[in-house]
Amino acid sequence: MAMLKLSLAFHVLAFVLFLCFTMSTGSYQYFQFVQQWPPTTCAVSKQPCYQNPPSIFTIHGLWPSNYSKKAWVANCTRTRFNNSLAPKLEAKLKISWPNVENANYTEFWEREWNKHGTCSEQTLDQEEYFQRSHDIWNAYNITNILKKANILPNGAIWNYSDIVSPIKTVTRKMPALRCKPDPTKPKNHKISHQLLHEVVLCLHYKGRALIDCNRTACDNNLKILFQ
Ligand code: 5GP
Repeated sequence: MAMLKLSLAFHVLAFVLFLCFTMSTGSYQYFQFVQQWPPTTCAVSKQPCYQNPPSIFTIHGLWPSNYSKKAWVANCTRTRFNNSLAPKLEAKLKISWPNVENANYTEFWEREWNKHGTCSEQTLDQEEYFQRSHDIWNAYNITNILKKANILPNGAIWNYSDIVSPIKTVTRKMPALRCKPDPTKPKNHKISHQLLHEVVLCLHYKGRALIDCNRTACDNNLKILFQ
């Protein structure tokens, strides 16, 4: 009987500790702040983009993530996007976070909030989620950082380290790149490069301090075309 009580107490304690841990860290461990290069988004998109894509890195999303195999957590609560962002913020997001695929800008924000934002609601409410994203975009201008390092969208081919190095110098933390196969090359073509698609900055789970990123979505064996 004493053993049973002890075992029960142990299980209750373990459960309480587990609850404390989940409530203090949330269901994610850090953020991936993903900025996309719109010309690549449009080049790989199934449907043609509705207009010429902007030639600046723009926000794709702020993704609550875990270090386990799956890159990010998704669709965490039933909270839905509330189309009531402050007009000033909305005006800024139209520049930093445009929908590059179609003209309905709130559709992209809605998708990103419902899929990703709901997973960090315990840290950032909807307004804070979009404001914080805009602030990070503003603080680390990837387009300018690459431009200053003479990494321009002119069709040159780079090593992975050539592109991350100037970003790391400015941010002092390791970014990550995400690449896409070049859709203009036939499947059986001897592929020699991939397209630069996205730059990821990683942040502590509170979404303020940058931390090193530890995963890439580029093929290590291929060079990177920036166009
Ligand atoms: P995720 O859903 O994981 O946040 O991102 C992947 C999807 O985002 C892809 O299906 C891609 O088409 C979509 N996506 C990337 N950029 C844009 C955009 O500017 N507008 C829209 N509507 N979708 C986008």
